[in-house]
Amino acid sequence: MSPSPSVLFVDQAAEIGGAELSLIDIVRWRKGPQTVCLMQPGPFAERLREFSVPTVLVDASGILNVRRDDGLAAAAGAIPALLRILRGFASHARRHDVVYANTMKAIVLAALSYPLHRRPVIWHLRDLLTAEHFSAGLRMCCSLLPAFAIRRVIANSQATAEAYRRIGGRSPVEVVYNGIDPAAFDAIDAAEARARLLSETRLAGDRPIVGVFSRLARWKGQHVLVEALKSVPDLQAVIVGGALFGEDAYEAQLRSDIAAAGLEDRVRLLGFRRDVPVLMKGVDIVAHTSTAAEPFGRVIIEGMLAGKPVVAMRAGGAVELIRDGETGVLVAPGDAGALAEALRQFLADPVEASRMAEQGASHARETFGVRDYVLNIDKAINAALSR
Ligand code: UDP
Repeated sequence: MSPSPSVLFVDQAAEIGGAELSLIDIVRWRKGPQTVCLMQPGPFAERLREFSVPTVLVDASGILNVRRDDGLAAAAGAIPALLRILRGFASHARRHDVVYANTMKAIVLAALSYPLHRRPVIWHLRDLLTAEHFSAGLRMCCSLLPAFAIRRVIANSQATAEAYRRIGGRSPVEVVYNGIDPAAFDAIDAAEARARLLSETRLAGDRPIVGVFSRLARWKGQHVLVEALKSVPDLQAVIVGGALFGEDAYEAQLRSDIAAAGLEDRVRLLGFRRDVPVLMKGVDIVAHTSTAAEPFGRVIIEGMLAGKPVVAMRAGGAVELIRDGETGVLVAPGDAGALAEALRQFLADPVEASRMAEQGASHARETFGVRDYVLNIDKAINAALSR
């Protein structure tokens, strides 16, 4: 074993979601030999190349079409294709000390090919294995993944770890919160960011703006914000994020809801953006509106680092990130009335809103630093090897 183990990270995504951004933070800052194994080309592969992170591609198109809510039959139907790619994947794995799966399909690939590569596998669990997010069949498949192959599970929140234990997961599990680098936020002047946002969106400069920053998907709850805006006069909104995983019908519905509510002059959809820190610095409030429990919720920490008051839904990982009334505000998931009330409170009492924003910013810096994040991941990698 080399002093710094060689790691093969694996991630199924073409697009860049929270899991991929959190993996980028590891491979950017970690010292030691590493490769990221991808299953499809796309923006994520390109971003890794920008950071000079070596990548390899294993063609896994045969299993990528199975969706998380398809159930057991669909998963079983994909097995022949899966068998064909196991050998290809194992040949890459054998060139590394550890295999590190960052997503669900990655762990299936890593664990099932274990007899061929025999490298210890770490599963970075960034999904909540609950009925809200996964079919019973897929949860059962996850519980059956062999503990002898999966040396450690790293959960991105207590909620994620608890859900893993509840399905009967048998590998040792520890919680490592994501770390987010404040530098990208610190580098931006808020007044300049506001001016840029106003010039791009043509929103009114004398009225407040709330921002949501999640991919467009029903469970991310952008429609809840639209509903809430109806009862918060004068509040404008930017909805940042794209329909990354085929939720185009949701986007169309959202646009028609906005038009039907007569909110077109107050709401802008900006699509997927790479300049989230700039946009966040330009708004007055960050809202996180998921209607189902979030495994973690990077956006909440980012909102704090941008120095904004944050309102989020009281479920899953979000509850671990915000101390309600101290570092932000929590409301019931999907409750547009409660969200509207929280937004009105922020606007009515800007002094209290700034106090929460300041406390949120300190909390985010202390608890969700990228240095500790990478250090803890490295410890887990070493621990997996020494068992
Ligand atoms: N994000 C982005 N561009 C967008 C919208 C979101 O880069 O247009 C980022 C956002 O800043 C956050 C991540 O995507 O870092 C979403 O992570 P989160 O944990 O909130 O949700 P997930 O995508 O993992 O469900």
